[in-house]
Amino acid sequence: MSYSGAIAVNNLGVCYRTVEALRDISLNLLPGKVTGVFGPNGAGKSTLVKAMLGLIPVNVGTVSYDGQPLQNHLEKVAYVPQRSQIDWTYPVTVWDVVMMGRVRKTGWFRRFSSLSRHQATDALEKVEMIEYKNRPIGQLSGGQQQRVFLARSLAQEAEVFFFDEPFVGVDQKTENIIFNLFHELADTGKIVVVVNHDLGESITNFDDLILLNKELIAFGQRQQVLQEENLQRAYGGKVNFFVDR
Ligand code: ADP
Ligand code: MG
Repeated sequence: MSYSGAIAVNNLGVCYRTVEALRDISLNLLPGKVTGVFGPNGAGKSTLVKAMLGLIPVNVGTVSYDGQPLQNHLEKVAYVPQRSQIDWTYPVTVWDVVMMGRVRKTGWFRRFSSLSRHQATDALEKVEMIEYKNRPIGQLSGGQQQRVFLARSLAQEAEVFFFDEPFVGVDQKTENIIFNLFHELADTGKIVVVVNHDLGESITNFDDLILLNKELIAFGQRQQVLQEENLQRAYGGKVNFFVDR
C-alpha cells in the first residue's frame, strides 16, 4: 500500500560482503508519526537507515517517497548518524555544525543569508544550546552534542528526519527535550524515524515501532508491536521490557 507523503520500503535486502544484514524488508513510514526502530545489536537498524538514504549499496528492493525514489529527494532528508560514526575531534564550533544544515539552502560558496542565520539561531534556542554557539563541538557532553545535531537537522527544514541512537550518553532532561521536539516535528506532518535499543519506559514516546532482527519481526502501532511473542522473536531468550498498557 502507498500513502501520500509516506516513505515506502519494498522488499529491501542488504548484504555486506559475507554478511546478510537485511532480508526482505517491506514497511511504510508515515508523516505525523514518531517511529522507533528497535532490535538487538547487529539487527540491521543502522543498515536499514543507511540503505534507505543510499549511503550503502542495496542488493534488492526499492525505497520511495511520495511515489518517487527517496534518493531523488535527499534535500528533504535530515540524518544524524550514530555517535560513534562522527569525528568529534573535527575542529568546528556549535554554530558551524548548525550552519552546515543550511548548506543545501545556500550553497557552499555563497554567504549565509540572514534567513539562514535566523534559522540556525532559532534551532539552537529550541534545543536550549544557544549560549554554547561558539564552543568547539568536541568539548561538549554527549547530550549537548546530540542537541546540536538535532538543531542542525531543524535548521535544514527537512520533511523527513532520521536519528540513529540519539539517546546514547544523554541525560533525562535532554531526552525529554529531544522527544518533545520529535513530537513537534511529527505534529507538523514530518516523518520522524529514531533508531533506539532501550526497551524501557521511554518506549512509550513512540507512536509506531519497527521491530527488526535481520528480517522484519513486526511493524505498526506501538502496542500492537509490543507483544511478548514479537519481542522473543527479535531479542530471543530473556528480555526485560516495559509493560505498556
Ligand atoms: P545495528 O545498527 O542494529 O546494531 P548494523 O546495521 O550496524 O546493526 O549491522 C548489521 C549487521 O551488519 C551486523 O552483523 C554487522 O556486523 C554487519 N555490518 C554492519 N556494517 C558493516 C560493514 N560496513 N561491513 C560489514 N559488515 C557490516
Ligand atoms: Mg546501529
